[in-house]
Amino acid sequence: MRVAIAGAGLAGLSCAKYLVDAGYTPIVLERRDVLGGLVAAWKDSDGDWYETGLHAFFGAYPNMLQLLKELGIEDRLQWKQHTLIFNQPEKPGTLSRFDVPDIPSPFNIIASILRNNDMLTWEQKIRFAIGLLPAIVRGQKYVEEMDKYSFSDWLKRQGVGERVASDVFIAASKALTFINPDEVSSTILLTALNRFLQERYGSKIAFLDGSPTERLCQPIVDYITERGGEVRLNAPLKEILLNPDGTVKGFLLRGLNGAPDEVITADFYVSAMSVDPLKVMLPEPWKQMDFFQKLEGLEGVPVINIQLWFNRKLTDIDHLLFSRSPLLSVYADMSNTCREYANPDRSMLELVLAPAKDWISKSDEEIVAATMTELEKLFPDHFGKENPAKLLKSHVVKTPRSVYKATPGRQQYRPPQKTPIANFFLSGSYTMQRYLGSMEGAVLSGKLTAQAICESLPEASASNLQTLTRPPATNAATA
Ligand SMILES: Cc1cc2nc3c(=O)[nH]c(=O)nc-3n(C[C@H](O)[C@H](O)[C@H](O)COP(=O)(O)OP(=O)(O)OC[C@H]3O[C@@H](n4cnc5c(N)ncnc54)[C@H](O)[C@@H]3O)c2cc1C
Repeated sequence: MRVAIAGAGLAGLSCAKYLVDAGYTPIVLERRDVLGGLVAAWKDSDGDWYETGLHAFFGAYPNMLQLLKELGIEDRLQWKQHTLIFNQPEKPGTLSRFDVPDIPSPFNIIASILRNNDMLTWEQKIRFAIGLLPAIVRGQKYVEEMDKYSFSDWLKRQGVGERVASDVFIAASKALTFINPDEVSSTILLTALNRFLQERYGSKIAFLDGSPTERLCQPIVDYITERGGEVRLNAPLKEILLNPDGTVKGFLLRGLNGAPDEVITADFYVSAMSVDPLKVMLPEPWKQMDFFQKLEGLEGVPVINIQLWFNRKLTDIDHLLFSRSPLLSVYADMSNTCREYANPDRSMLELVLAPAKDWISKSDEEIVAATMTELEKLFPDHFGKENPAKLLKSHVVKTPRSVYKATPGRQQYRPPQKTPIANFFLSGSYTMQRYLGSMEGAVLSGKLTAQAICESLPEASASNLQTLTRPPATNAATA
C-alpha cells in the first residue's frame, strides 16, 4: 500500500520509517532542497555546517533513542556529563552547576537541587518542592489541568516568588519553547520536570556528532529507500485534491523551474508539514469541520539560531549552557561538543536567540552585534578591552514560525494523528503526544501516525502493529 507524506522533517521521516517496517510503501515529498525541516543544516563555501537550530538530545527521549538504535547509529550521540550548567548574569563569566549524582530518580535530581546554593535559597527550594507535590502525586492529569496557567502564574499560586521565575525558569522556558515564563503554559515545564524526576538519566544531555541533515536524517532516508520507499526533495505540495465524498484524491505538487504540476496518488495521505503551512492548504470543505477549525488555535513561534566562529578558544566546556540572559537562550561551544565541528584552537559558538519576535525582522548585522554585546557578559575575559577575541565569520538562521507557540490553553487545540477524513492523517511535533514541540515529539508523532494508518485497516495484521508498538530501547544515556 502506498502512503504519500508531505514534509521531510523528523515527523515525516519517522512516519515513513515505521510505515516501511509495517510493509507499506511511503513516498515522502519535501518542499525544500534539504532534509530535516527544523533540524535542517547547510554547508557554507568554507565547508562549515550551519544549522536551523542548536539541538540537544535528552536521556528522556525513548523514541528517538529507539529509532537511532534501529538505524544502527546510536553511537552518533555524544553523551555529556550528567549536569545542567547555568550562567550567573549577576556575576559575569561565572557558572552555576546542577551536578546530578548517579543514584536512582528522583533522589538524583533532588540531590542536585539541594547541593546548588547559587540559584535558589533554601526557602525557595522548600516552597518549590511543596509546589511540585501535586504534579508528583497526581501525575500527568494534574500537569494537563495546569495548561490554563502560565508558568509564572503557577509559581505565584504555589507561593514561590516571582524571582524564581525570572531568574531560574527563564532558562528552562526559553530553552523548551522559545518564550518567557510569563507566556509559557505550566504544562510544558511541569511535563519536563516530571520526566526528569521520574527517569534516572532523563536530564542527561547528548549532542549529535555532526550535522542533523547528514548524520540523522540521511540514514532514515537510506533505510526507507533501501526498503522500497521514496523521498523526494524540491517537491512542494500545492493543493490537497478531494473526491466528491471529501476524502483525498491526490496530492498536487507544484512543478518547479517551468516543470508542470504533478498529481501523486496513494492509498493514504499524511501531512507532516508544520501547522502553519497546513492551515493555509486546508481544502475549503474541511475548513468548516470542528477538527480542522481547532488548528486555528495553534501557530509557530519565531526563533533565531546564530553561529559565530572565533580566532581563538573561548572555553573548554563540553556541554550545553543556559545563558539566563534576556536576549539568548541556550548555547554551546560546538568546537568542543560535536566531533565533526571539533577544533582545538578556535571556538565556534552556536546560540539560540529567544524570544525572537522583536528580532526576527532585524538584519543579520544587528542580531550579531547584539549577540556580541551579550558575549561580553558571558565571556568577560575574552571580550574585554584588551586583546578581544576576533569574530571570523557568522551565520544567522531565522525561523519566523518554528514549533507551536506553547502559551496557556494550547493543549486542547493539538490534534490527534487520526483525522475525521478516512484516508488523511497528521504528523508533526505540534500534534498530540506527550513530548511537546521537540525532536522526540516529532519522532513519536511519526510513529503514532504510522500506527494510526495500520489500525485504520480492518485487516491490520497483528505483526505490523507489533513492530510499531515495540517497547522503547534500553536507555542509551546510561552509556
Ligand atoms: C532553533 C531551534 C532549536 C531547537 N532545539 C531543540 C532541542 O534542543 N531539542 C529538541 O528536542 N528539539 C529542538 N527543537 C525542536 C525540533 O527541531 C522540532 O520539534 C522538530 O524538528 C519538528 O519536526 P517536525 O517534523 O514536526 O516539523 P518540521 O521540522 O517543521 O517539518 C515540517 C516539514 O514540512 C515541510 N513542508 C512545509 N510545507 C510543505 C509543502 N507545502 N510541501 C512539502 N513539504 C512541506 C517543511 O519544509 C519541513 O521540512 C528546536 C527547534 C529550533 C527551530
